[in-house]
Amino acid sequence: MSYILIIVAVLILLNSYPLLVSQNLVFRSKVTAMSGSVKVIESALSGLEELTEENVSQAMTVVEETGVSRIMITDTAGRVLYDSRETGSAVGLYAFYTEIVQALSGDDAFFCSYDGEAFLSRGACPVVYHNQTVGAVYAYEYDTEQAELFKNLQTNLMRISGMIAVLVILLSMVLSRMLTGRISGLLQAIRQVREGAYSHRAEEKGTDEIAQITAEFNSLTDKLQTTENTRRRFVSDASHELKTPLAGIRLLTDSILQTENMDAETVREFVTDIGQEAERLSRITEDLLRLTRLDSGAIQRAEPVEAAPVLERVMRMLRMVAREKEVQLSYCADHRAVVMATEDDIHQIFYNLMENGIKYSTRGGFVHTELTVEEQVVVIRVEDDGVGIPDEDMNHIFDRFYRVDKMRSRAVGGTGLGLSIVRDTVLRREGTIEVAHRVGGQGTVFTVRLPLAEGGTEA
Ligand code: ADP
Repeated sequence: MSYILIIVAVLILLNSYPLLVSQNLVFRSKVTAMSGSVKVIESALSGLEELTEENVSQAMTVVEETGVSRIMITDTAGRVLYDSRETGSAVGLYAFYTEIVQALSGDDAFFCSYDGEAFLSRGACPVVYHNQTVGAVYAYEYDTEQAELFKNLQTNLMRISGMIAVLVILLSMVLSRMLTGRISGLLQAIRQVREGAYSHRAEEKGTDEIAQITAEFNSLTDKLQTTENTRRRFVSDASHELKTPLAGIRLLTDSILQTENMDAETVREFVTDIGQEAERLSRITEDLLRLTRLDSGAIQRAEPVEAAPVLERVMRMLRMVAREKEVQLSYCADHRAVVMATEDDIHQIFYNLMENGIKYSTRGGFVHTELTVEEQVVVIRVEDDGVGIPDEDMNHIFDRFYRVDKMRSRAVGGTGLGLSIVRDTVLRREGTIEVAHRVGGQGTVFTVRLPLAEGGTEA
């Protein structure tokens, strides 16, 4: 609509401006030509002391053809002494045309107008004898020839403008239909996705801005679909993980309640099992809470943390567990290792990796942790000679609730969330984590790299 309005405005301007200019040009040339003719007559009469019908007619016989439609000559009272028109001659009558009145008062007067059919030009000038006005010369012209040309020009311009207007309207309609068609396609896709049809995609056509928006929308929807799938899987995995210990607790309490005269020893055994299941529940919920906090981005303010003391503390915590499993625990720590994080982050990384090492070790095995500084990077390596991770599982072990061996993980008290927490924490602190087979034997090596802090605090 706005394009059409602009084009219409331009067309109106194109139609009126050249016509106005050419009309003005015609007017000017008419006035020039007419004043020339009138002056010729006036000079023929200029020697006469007094104008009479006779001397004027005589003087006019020597005036050449001027091409003017009508010439009248009046005396000072405005009485017509000469009229070039033969039928309906005004000789003897008084002519008080504006131009004549103006000429008799001593001024020239020339006018031109266009009435749609012809150019009308009128003009008069005084006849002067010794600075005395003795009469007036009046000329009148009715030109249809130039008016015809002018009219042709007008109609041609109108025709061209009309054609342009029709073309523009048609073109605008076609273009706007094409444009709105594509936009409404995109809108429909947006609505479908909003309603939850995440697999729906908008059709991508061409390379213009709309095509780019469509492509962006489709990739946004891809991401949304992936996120939604992950969320659904996570919710169903989480509820399944929570259901298992709850079902265990239910089963155990039912057994206690339904068995009459259960001996104290068995009751104690069952209640211990209930306690273990409850502990597992609280471990899972704790891990879930930690992951949710990491997901929400509400991370604690980072500060330079010395990693070696944290490692030593974790060592002390896990020593008993390792001894029970007959796993040898060792470490070497570089005290220059300072990381921008929180103590809890570093604790999580060490604890989860080292605890996994112990959990998935065989009796008599070892777990060795190294904390080093390589150039500007703090490197944490946790190595064990345990059961190892099959190649096909390597890419998945950081996924939430992913376990290579579900039974074993459960048996050793795993939640399937430890490595996800480590990975998310490391990524939050702008680090990387890798897993590999131990070189030269069975087992696994986890390598975490974190930027070395340069001192001071930052957000
Ligand atoms: P979990 O609580 O089950 O240990 P994690 O997220 O910590 O969960 O680990 C995911 C899975 O990766 C584990 O179930 C286990 O199968 C495997 N895994 C992790 N660490 C090791 C390791 N050091 N040696 C062998 N397998 C491991």
